[in-house]
Amino acid sequence: MKERLQELQTEALAKVTESSTLSDLQDIRVAYLGKKGPITEVLRGMGKLSPEERPVIGELANKVREAIANELDSKKAKLEAEELEKKLEKETIDVTLPGRPVQVGGPHLLTSIVEEIEDLFIGMGFEIREGPEVETDYYNFEALNLPKGHPARDMQDSFYITEELLMRTHTSPVQARTMGQFNGSQPVKMICPGKVYRRDTDDATHSHQFTQVEGLYVDKDVRMSDLKGVLNRFAKQMFGEDREIRLRPSFFPFTEPSVEMDISCKVCNGEGCSVCKGTGWIEILGGGMVHPRVLEMAGYDPKEYSGFAFGMGPERIAMLKYGVDDIRHFYTNDVRFLKQYHKA
Ligand SMILES: [Zn+2]
Repeated sequence: MKERLQELQTEALAKVTESSTLSDLQDIRVAYLGKKGPITEVLRGMGKLSPEERPVIGELANKVREAIANELDSKKAKLEAEELEKKLEKETIDVTLPGRPVQVGGPHLLTSIVEEIEDLFIGMGFEIREGPEVETDYYNFEALNLPKGHPARDMQDSFYITEELLMRTHTSPVQARTMGQFNGSQPVKMICPGKVYRRDTDDATHSHQFTQVEGLYVDKDVRMSDLKGVLNRFAKQMFGEDREIRLRPSFFPFTEPSVEMDISCKVCNGEGCSVCKGTGWIEILGGGMVHPRVLEMAGYDPKEYSGFAFGMGPERIAMLKYGVDDIRHFYTNDVRFLKQYHKA
């Protein structure tokens, strides 16, 4: 029995030395040290031995087991270390390789234009105000001198949610809200940029949703010439110092008198071309002196206060400034279009 055990040990150790993978080692462990292995078998036969021999063989069997287990463990550690070494070698990073370029996004053209408009008016002392896009009939129409049934409501076909709630058709309700909030207690000098909604059929110049920036200045002794001065500064800063402006009479229910502002055509310098339809002028925005009724409804005494208001479409400004020919470009979000206007 002694010889058999020593034989097993020699045999097992030789196999461990020969083995080259972790799974080989596992096989050897199962074969020699497992419950069905030869050492277990030898121990099972111990019953036939004399009482003197039993402890001697028992001790030897344990020593053989231990020797094989130790050898397996140390070989396992060695193989694992080699494997790690190989892996590290394979995964070496070549720091001299050029990196992958990072794709950088940029603000949407409309966002940039609105920010440019905001900066410009902040520079003239206006503050920025915002309001809800789902608006009440009162703020969207009534407070702006457009009572129910007023024919001018047809100028702004609306998305109604209920009888009294609608998607705002302009950002003017923000003006009515701000004035109402101050209730005649202080001057107002603000612009309100935001999204507006109208029941229009989408085409190259119309969209059912677009952006607006409106402005309002209410104080004592605000005059038409103040409006003209502010708009003139805006036009020159936005389109170039050599642009001229002109005001034409118009109609809006919330301003009296109302005007529309044109700038001289950049393409033909006022000579007349296809862009300006031969007139030499391009329509930019509408405005006027705030209607006394509107002031009154918001708590301002029209005998004491006066004001001007104006409104423009950033899409139109961007189209004229950058020669964009279709309003849908702003909303279809073709990256090839948008990328052209990313500022570095
Ligand atoms: Zn022209």
